[in-house]
Amino acid sequence: MKELIWGLLELVFPKFCIICHRSGDEICLECGSYWVAKPYKINFGETKLYFVKDYDSQAAKVTLLAKENHNKEAINLISFSIFLSIKALINESKLSGTINIVTIPSSSKTIMKRGRDNISDICNKVIKLLRKDGINANNTPVLTQVRRVRDQSKLNRVERIRNLDYAYGLKNKQLDGNSCILMDDLITTGSSLSEAIRALTEAKITILGAVTACAVGRKSLIR
Ligand SMILES: [Zn+2]
Repeated sequence: MKELIWGLLELVFPKFCIICHRSGDEICLECGSYWVAKPYKINFGETKLYFVKDYDSQAAKVTLLAKENHNKEAINLISFSIFLSIKALINESKLSGTINIVTIPSSSKTIMKRGRDNISDICNKVIKLLRKDGINANNTPVLTQVRRVRDQSKLNRVERIRNLDYAYGLKNKQLDGNSCILMDDLITTGSSLSEAIRALTEAKITILGAVTACAVGRKSLIR
């Protein structure tokens, strides 16, 4: 019955690309190709950062569709890009064994408002893709916000750094192997990533690298 309804709905509302609105697939080949490509690698301080898509208006749209609309296609696209970034990091750094993935935390207020934890959902999808590829990984969200922070989207670069200064802490200091890969869906100014690196480094946890779906170029990052 459900299939029949979906079939009828598709007749009335044909599929269109969620990014460019061209009719056809939910993500057209051209738009999808930017997210399924060889990852870039840049140095973020002493941490290697891997990402696939340059941050632009398309990236902002897909990230927002995943975050606020819980759009399945957008979530899948972001998850696949992060999977590719992790694969690149594993291959280049010759990592083996089970990998801990630590996500950059959202505030509990944001999670409550959305009714879900977007980055955790993405992390679980990434882990499924890795397992299918024979790589064992665990979602180990040890980072948490330890004090109230303001909504980053309304702040400039300097305000963002101040806003997140000592904002993260570890809710669980036990991490198998004491090492992890840091993950976020989007990195713009890099203030969250910097703060996450500070918190983990102070807890003596080795960061094997950082991964994301999209990021702004090296010049716009904080360091
Ligand atoms: Zn498109």
